[in-house]
Amino acid sequence: MQISELNFSKTFNYKKITIEDIAYFEQVVGKENVFCDSFTIAEYAHDWTEDFYFPAEVILKPKSTCAISQILSYCNHHIIPVTPIGGRTGLSGGMLPLFGGVGLSLEKMNRILEIDTQNLQATVEPGVITQVLQEAVLEHGLMYPPDPSSRGSCFIGGNVAENAGGIHAVKYGITREYILGLEAVLPSGEIIQTGAKVLKNSTGYNLTQLLIGSEGTLAIITKIIVKLLPAPKYNILLSVPFSSAQEAIAAVGTIFQVGIIPSAIEFIEKDAIDFGQEYLGIFTYDTEHIGALLLIELDGNYLEEIWKEAEKLFQTLEKFTLQEIRVAESQNQKEELWKLRRCLGEAVRRNGIYKEVDTVVPRARLPELLAKVKGICRTYGLQSVCYGHAGDGNLHVNIIKSGISDEYWKREVPKAVREIFLEVKRLEGMLSGEHGVGCVLPPFLDIVFSQAEIALMQGIKKVFDPKGILNPGKIF
Ligand SMILES: Cc1cc2nc3c(=O)[nH]c(=O)nc-3n(C[C@H](O)[C@H](O)[C@H](O)COP(=O)(O)OP(=O)(O)OC[C@H]3O[C@@H](n4cnc5c(N)ncnc54)[C@H](O)[C@@H]3O)c2cc1C
Repeated sequence: MQISELNFSKTFNYKKITIEDIAYFEQVVGKENVFCDSFTIAEYAHDWTEDFYFPAEVILKPKSTCAISQILSYCNHHIIPVTPIGGRTGLSGGMLPLFGGVGLSLEKMNRILEIDTQNLQATVEPGVITQVLQEAVLEHGLMYPPDPSSRGSCFIGGNVAENAGGIHAVKYGITREYILGLEAVLPSGEIIQTGAKVLKNSTGYNLTQLLIGSEGTLAIITKIIVKLLPAPKYNILLSVPFSSAQEAIAAVGTIFQVGIIPSAIEFIEKDAIDFGQEYLGIFTYDTEHIGALLLIELDGNYLEEIWKEAEKLFQTLEKFTLQEIRVAESQNQKEELWKLRRCLGEAVRRNGIYKEVDTVVPRARLPELLAKVKGICRTYGLQSVCYGHAGDGNLHVNIIKSGISDEYWKREVPKAVREIFLEVKRLEGMLSGEHGVGCVLPPFLDIVFSQAEIALMQGIKKVFDPKGILNPGKIF
């Protein structure tokens, strides 16, 4: 993919990095944290978005807020683009240094600074891997609920920048709901603190919430205060195979209507089960007779109550055509089931080029969305593999390229995607539930935002970053 193929609404004119710039960066972060070699540059030139490849001119790995402040101040003065880089698991190309310049990796700012068991809070640096934080707080009987399927490699900073969701969002909410305050560095180099270690705060505009989901375009986040919950003591996991995908997705809404709120409810359609089983080399489900699977987790502090809820769930599901429900109680059994769900991103990717569309609609409209997606893809002769956080109304549609010519792919897929998004809009949904706009969604923003709304957002960007050095080419 070339820059010229991305549809930008403005032109960019940045200074190329020179030996003098490198000398300055070495002075700020130390020679050992400045990388210009082709191997490192190539490693940081892609995330998980399609087959995109955009190299930075230099990769920096600062260890302190102060160093980031100096780097940004310098780059702002010299008009050098800076792209924040987290765990590089993004699915909208957010960390791709589209215009070269500095790729600023947060990986060396990876300390958990405090776990406050009295106030149920933690303060962390942005490079902490999400699962590392989850496991650290669990040792204190606490839970950090945002739980993206990429939790083993994505960073908390990346989660904040993308407002990540994940499998437990359906009951516990998304990243946005767990962030109390931030430290961040503005493109000018100025360091700001937003929010506080408090659970409520009506003091001025909410800059914390503005930075969450800003995809590294407004400031670089250098410290994060998160809210924790007591970890529920028990959970059980059910794997429910449905004869048809439409029935499975319709069952999701029914479950909530009878008053059950699962701690996770994931939808995996037949093609996705096939991809996952093929990838794992484990063939638990005979997909000849299965249209889709729901993975349903119930949690709480009292096992009897969880089972009572499970009974109610079984009764609710009686009206659907199901294969045998499996119940996982032991940790091993649960991990086996979750493995299938968590591997899907990798399983699809291993198959070659694909286009991921992260649709979200009101939960009860998911059946309509699924039917439309399938219909549109059929019309264009495209294979779509669907799965996602069905409890949130969030359906990941993966359009698979295999066997399709480059020319057809480039010409027709954007048209199919636009048609899907128009349906999403008709169903009162949004373009992305959790993966962000990055450099893949700007051509479609007109579907959901008016010119006035886009102009407001561009105005906010200008206030934070008047010279446009921070993560250029993203969102707009
Ligand atoms: C297999 C797989 C499964 C996934 N499952 C989920 C899921 O269940 N839920 C979900 O929400 N997402 C999911 N994702 C998407 C991805 O993991 C998330 O978007 C995640 O939040 C990205 O974090 P990261 O650390 O990898 O960030 P990166 O990809 O490195 O960067 C993402 C964005 O954040 C910016 N950024 C990073 N750090 C900072 C910082 N400190 N300050 C400012 N900006 C910063 C970058 O510039 C970029 O715009 C999945 C991805 C994969 C590959």
